[in-house]
Amino acid sequence: MEKYRRSFSSLKPSKTRMINPVEFGIFSCAFEEIVRFFNDDISIGLAHFMTMHNHLEDYSQRAVGFYLDNTILKVVSCWDYSFQVLNQFWGLDFLSSARSREILSDIYQKRWKVVETGDSFTLACSDYSEKQLAEINEKLKQALVVLHADNFKKQVKRSKKIALTPELDRLMELFNSQPCKELRTQWRNHVTHGASMTFGLHISGINSTLPTEGLSFTHPAKRRDDMLCLLQQNMDVLQKGIQLVHDIVWDNIVPNSRQNSGKMFYGVQLDCPNCDFKDCLTQDVFDLLHAKGRVPRFDCPKCRSPLTVLQHLEMAERDYNWLLFNVEKFEGHLQNYLKDSSS
Ligand SMILES: [Zn+2]
Repeated sequence: MEKYRRSFSSLKPSKTRMINPVEFGIFSCAFEEIVRFFNDDISIGLAHFMTMHNHLEDYSQRAVGFYLDNTILKVVSCWDYSFQVLNQFWGLDFLSSARSREILSDIYQKRWKVVETGDSFTLACSDYSEKQLAEINEKLKQALVVLHADNFKKQVKRSKKIALTPELDRLMELFNSQPCKELRTQWRNHVTHGASMTFGLHISGINSTLPTEGLSFTHPAKRRDDMLCLLQQNMDVLQKGIQLVHDIVWDNIVPNSRQNSGKMFYGVQLDCPNCDFKDCLTQDVFDLLHAKGRVPRFDCPKCRSPLTVLQHLEMAERDYNWLLFNVEKFEGHLQNYLKDSSS
């Protein structure tokens, strides 16, 4: 089994890039699960298949087929899990399943209001008119999108939420590489919709002599050497895909919004030499105060000591937007500076 296990390298946290520690913690845990799924669940299945493949006389077709089914489905699912992490990390809001879309549709198709009942309040719902419902359903069709790894990039483009990044191109390139495509479109679909590899009787493939489907006793995975080679190639590509999503999260690569494509965002990290206070301001606010003709002095909101500039940081647009709320902490100082400068 060790033959199939891989190690995934963690990037050293970048010193010049702002990392959100809460997000970093949550997504590190999500990744740990995917890495364990790769190294334990998938590798175990593949190792079993490999052992049986080498001693076919000792095992039935059903036993071999069981592990083959298992490995094919798990490899393809592992891609989906990785895309789900990216969906959450990039805040794309695609839904993880058709069931979630169904539940949300049911909620939005009713008119909800809070009703006072004696000493308490309760939620009551009523129906929309047919015309209103048709308009709502049209909007829901655009808003409630279920994530499909197969057309992830197409959905990202359609949603117009984020700018496309080279990392996404690279990920899609791996996902659509020949071994992955073959495993997904040919074998996963066969196992999911046609027949399990444990079956003796299978749906026959279409060929030029007989251009139709039928039933056949010829097992589609009879050439097990080819199947083993395909699975090994898939493990190599999957490893690169997981590593890439891992690097995106570790390096906090969050695409800009579509309208700010290509724009860079910066912040300034301020540090209190007297206590443990550390915080950031956007570079633009910082520069604005410099532009008033004097070096601004920020006092620590905790101990009132003068803060020093620790470093200038590159950051994602999303983190930059959050930082704008930080101005509130320095509001008193900012107002004083602006007043002093204008007088
Ligand atoms: Zn302080």
